[in-house]
Amino acid sequence: HAKNCGKNNAKLYSSSLTMQIMSHVKLEVGLRKALKNEELYLLYQPQIDVRSAEIVGVEALVRWRHPERGIISPNEFIPLAEETGLIVPIGEWVLRTACSQAKAWQRQTKRLVRMAVNLSAKQFKDENLTQIVISALHDTGLDPKLLELELTEGTLMDDARATMATLEQLRAIGVYLSIDDFGTGYSSMNYLKRFDVRALKIDKSFICGLPQDSENAAITRAIIAMAHGLKMAVVAEGVETDEQLVLLEEFGCDMVQGFYLGHPSPHDSITLMLQKVCTIAAPAK
Ligand code: C2E
Ligand code: MG
Ligand code: MG
Ligand code: MG
Repeated sequence: HAKNCGKNNAKLYSSSLTMQIMSHVKLEVGLRKALKNEELYLLYQPQIDVRSAEIVGVEALVRWRHPERGIISPNEFIPLAEETGLIVPIGEWVLRTACSQAKAWQRQTKRLVRMAVNLSAKQFKDENLTQIVISALHDTGLDPKLLELELTEGTLMDDARATMATLEQLRAIGVYLSIDDFGTGYSSMNYLKRFDVRALKIDKSFICGLPQDSENAAITRAIIAMAHGLKMAVVAEGVETDEQLVLLEEFGCDMVQGFYLGHPSPHDSITLMLQKVCTIAAPAK
């Protein structure tokens, strides 16, 4: 009897595994066509300077409008894109689209907003990365200072020598480097002084329990103090409430990003926000 049970379980397991593999393969086939079929698009989430309350940057966040399944989150398809190598052409499209949008806002609103783009480990390791960045900046005319590349701790820890070389090339281009999801990865404090990183983005898992969670408050405060000691700026991610914003301001956090300040939005909503802030801010100056 016990054996039968085992068999049945194995069968059940294998058929659900088959289904999993099949849907994975289907998604992969779809993802290969997504770029060409223009099913990918970007949303932009504002980053607000705590002191001036102005939008100083936006983060580009990719979405996939799947013809049958509807909108698929990057948490689902970016890992697949990484596995298959599709992240390289997709990442290049994201970079070009984001740079060109940043330049368009500059023209339309006369405001300088930094455009933050996420880079996955596989993109960072691609030997053509710096060339892709240079040509995206060149073709769009965007000032390198206004392009922020978000790396993760894992990406930087991978292979010291190759990492150093790539970071040096990116530094030479003049782009703004930041560390995303800071505090969640496997990291050594050593790389913070060796690499020319301009900002740390505190992961939203530390922010979400604030202000009540005293441990996360201590961690957040310590990250801010460390970053400032190293002349780096700090962005808090996942700010959802006014109480969180008040505490982060008290801690001296430089920039905030989160649903409380603005959801990831289509480009034209950001254009309106940039124009609004401009007209409201103008008389005060
Ligand atoms: P991330 O880079 O850490 O981006 C922040 C994520 O937090 C976004 O999720 C954003 O929508 C979400 N978020 C923003 N504010 C709040 C908030 O107040 N509360 C909560 N709970 N969440 C908030 P999203 O857009 O689903 O992206 C997920 C991840 O996918 C990103 O995390 C990033 O690692 C990756 N990703 C997105 N776009 C790209 C891309 O173009 N290239 C690469 N390589 N990765 C991307
Ligand atoms: Mg990010
Ligand atoms: Mg990221
Ligand atoms: Mg993050």
